[in-house]
Amino acid sequence: MRSIALMNQKGGVGKTTTTVNLAAASARLGKRTLLVDLDPQAHATLHLGADPSALDGSVYDLLLDPTHDAAHPLITSRDNLALLPAETDLAAAETELQNAPDRQHRLGRALDRLRDRFDLVLLDCPPALGLLTLNGLAAATEVLIPMQAHFLALQGVSKLLETVQLVRGSLNDRLAVAGVVLCMHDHQTTLSQEVVADLNEFFESARGTDVPWNAAKIFDPPIRRNIKLAECPSFGQTIFEYAPDAAGAKDYEALARSVLGLTDAPTTPEPEPPVVNIRPQAMNQPSAPDAIAPDQPA
Ligand code: ADP
Ligand code: MG
Repeated sequence: MRSIALMNQKGGVGKTTTTVNLAAASARLGKRTLLVDLDPQAHATLHLGADPSALDGSVYDLLLDPTHDAAHPLITSRDNLALLPAETDLAAAETELQNAPDRQHRLGRALDRLRDRFDLVLLDCPPALGLLTLNGLAAATEVLIPMQAHFLALQGVSKLLETVQLVRGSLNDRLAVAGVVLCMHDHQTTLSQEVVADLNEFFESARGTDVPWNAAKIFDPPIRRNIKLAECPSFGQTIFEYAPDAAGAKDYEALARSVLGLTDAPTTPEPEPPVVNIRPQAMNQPSAPDAIAPDQPA
């Protein structure tokens, strides 16, 4: 089960819009998808048409009570798409859990109990690096960073990557940064082109190192600014329900294909990866780390 935390400590960058519409797109592509709303503002919950004040349970219950039935709070009103909703009480979880030794792993354990039901989990993180986001990062296999190509964007990203590195060193050693989704994007401006070039250069410079973003990339396509994307939350609908022909629906569908690895052949063919003959060498060297032959039976 892939689980992707959509994270950026900055608010208003497109996290919730991306989580909701990427989840909806992935469900339409046949993946059994779970959206986890980890933000006490409950924007993703509202976006999917649920009322956070009239829920029959939420992610709060799973965080506070490790024995809670993890399937109980799920809202499954759409094909292939389930919502683990948030409520405003969620903000209190930070203090209520402060003395629980396993407080950062409560969500991950609950999601483990749902593992057979879903192919993909998307976690909408709050714009802060507190306990809720840490639970998201501890439960995730990947981080996806929605951002706008603005001045100083790169500075924000490097701070975020530092956090991911700390989390990988302490809570979750399999955590990797999948990459960046450019939101509310304007291809035309020189500034956004420069930011994209800088970001690409930054990711390229990490190849072959052991940082969690050594395979990160900027996902294609960027999400264009599209007013329909801003309108649909008020109707409790995804872009595919509200305006299926809008640019926003096309962008999120293409993004989902790209994140799920379902893309058609790229227009410029990728160079063949160099053939690295790791295995025979690994067998000749008993001291070689196990990690380079992960698919060998133990
Ligand atoms: P975050 O979750 O990071 O705080 P949101 O997804 O809520 O960010 O987006 C912030 C605001 O921008 C919302 O009002 C949202 O509707 C709007 N928005 C997000 N993406 C787009 C887009 N591609 N085009 C137009 N408006 C957008
Ligand atoms: Mg949000």
